[in-house]
Amino acid sequence: EAQKETLGFQTEVKQLLHLMIHSLYSNKEIFLRELISNASDAEDKLRFAALKDDSLYEGDPDLKIRLDFDEKANTVTLTDNGIGMTRDDVIQNLGTIAKSGTAEFLKQLSGDEKKDSKLIGQFGVGFYSAFIVADRVEVFTRRAGTPAEEGVHWESKGDGEFTIEQTNRENRGTQIVLHLKKEAKEFANGWKLRSLVKKYSDHISFPVEMRKEADGEDKEKSDEFETVNDATALWTLPRTEIKDEEYKEFYKHIAHDFEDPLTWSHNKVEGKLDYTSLLYIPARAPFDLYNREAPRGLKLYVQRVFIMDDAEQFLPLYLRFAKGVIDSNDLSLNVSREILQNDSTVESIRTALTKRVLDVLSKLAKKDPEQYQKFWGEFGTVLKEGPAEDFGNREKIAGLLRFASTHTGERTQNVSLDDYIGRMKEGQKKIYYITGDNFSAAKSSPHLEVFRKKGIEVLILSDRIDEWMMGYLNEYDGKQFQDVARGDLDLGEVETEEDKKHKEEAAEEHKDLLERIKKALDDRVQEVRVTNRLTDSPACLVVGDFDMGAQMKKIMEAAGQ
Ligand code: ADP
Ligand code: MG
Repeated sequence: EAQKETLGFQTEVKQLLHLMIHSLYSNKEIFLRELISNASDAEDKLRFAALKDDSLYEGDPDLKIRLDFDEKANTVTLTDNGIGMTRDDVIQNLGTIAKSGTAEFLKQLSGDEKKDSKLIGQFGVGFYSAFIVADRVEVFTRRAGTPAEEGVHWESKGDGEFTIEQTNRENRGTQIVLHLKKEAKEFANGWKLRSLVKKYSDHISFPVEMRKEADGEDKEKSDEFETVNDATALWTLPRTEIKDEEYKEFYKHIAHDFEDPLTWSHNKVEGKLDYTSLLYIPARAPFDLYNREAPRGLKLYVQRVFIMDDAEQFLPLYLRFAKGVIDSNDLSLNVSREILQNDSTVESIRTALTKRVLDVLSKLAKKDPEQYQKFWGEFGTVLKEGPAEDFGNREKIAGLLRFASTHTGERTQNVSLDDYIGRMKEGQKKIYYITGDNFSAAKSSPHLEVFRKKGIEVLILSDRIDEWMMGYLNEYDGKQFQDVARGDLDLGEVETEEDKKHKEEAAEEHKDLLERIKKALDDRVQEVRVTNRLTDSPACLVVGDFDMGAQMKKIMEAAGQ
């Protein structure tokens, strides 16, 4: 028994380790945030599990994290008394990457460290970041509630394999020992570690303790520990007491992101509902934004007790990019995912949070168009799912949309409907748009000729989702949307009497020709008519008002309909 086994890392882990070590070197101090973040998650999980079975505390309900170091041995040690891991947990969590889509994602790596370090931001770093500063990492752990003999000792040099063996562990929870690289010995230093804890982990919910600094000449280590962080959950503090930096660090802790968020909204609601929410808009899309199984949702707390990650019920799917915390005083501590699914309190909170996210985006768009543009570039296509999913907020969502347009002629989607309306011609009643498979095709469509001639702006929609989305948007600000390739084009007051007369005369004059063309095309067209849509091209195809558009047809065909 007690055999030591050597196992290989999953290929993806090897790739990730390589990437991390080589591209995150200038960011190396983030390892501490990641490890403390994991320790804090483990304490949260234990507290949650102990709601049902408080024997899991094993007589020690005092949840805390300890950080220690040894300058001579060049080690840093982080210990938590959280949930801990079984042998199977360890192999799973510290030997593989569970996120689906990881392999495809890692294929994009170019070997160019600068570019790749940006990519890793989309992925999140986590436990493996320990190897940025350590050339050997040991993990000692025991799952709460299991016997002392079921302790596990894991060890790796981060070079492709790890060893695992059974060990006796009196204390539940996890201890991580980092054997620092020579170049990272600056971290085996009390002052340095304290400042990093303050910087990155001040407002996690649990105390991080360090040995008291020994005073005087004798450099004997003190046996007394003191708390070095603030240890109050950030969202429980009043807004006025929180610095932007603290909001940003907290975001990184909960979102597993290492870039700053674009913006956030922190609100305490009292009255009929009683909850606090802290919602963030990330600056960058995660690699699995379009993966259906990708985790999404908020971190749910009930009366400050962590209940679950990825509580999906508090936001609609089209706002899945939002990250954050919801702490409710109305829900029960026994709440489960099933209960969340049809709970009226959750429904009300969801309605309110949806508004919050939409509002925070409107505010960003007004206050900082450049940042909003960045948001749009990352998450615009997700927001475009909104009009279909959330009928009640259609108008609000529409106000947040950005389009390419004949006004700029560029493919960048940066024209809002308000911009468009501000430039409408006198007498123009509708908002005109064109859809196409790609931007260039849409932009050079003959349907745009008459608009160009009359100086009327047309929105150019060429994302896959656009035509589908427009099926759910009828009007904005009282103005109807009109697909320029659809039905009888009515240019409203912009069309002069003369234009109309000209069209009628031409139809009369070429009656025979129209008949002949119709006959020749037989049942492939419904109607052939004279138009003033065109100025240069001789003819174009038009879709009936109530028929499916060309793009939509393709989507349906692809879906086997
Ligand atoms: P993430 O925190 O995003 O899940 P990490 O790479 O940081 O990813 O950690 C991987 C997993 O390892 C965690 O989800 C958790 O299950 C486990 N783990 C890491 N550190 C600890 C710890 N201190 N105590 C218990 N489990 C841990
Ligand atoms: Mg983590």
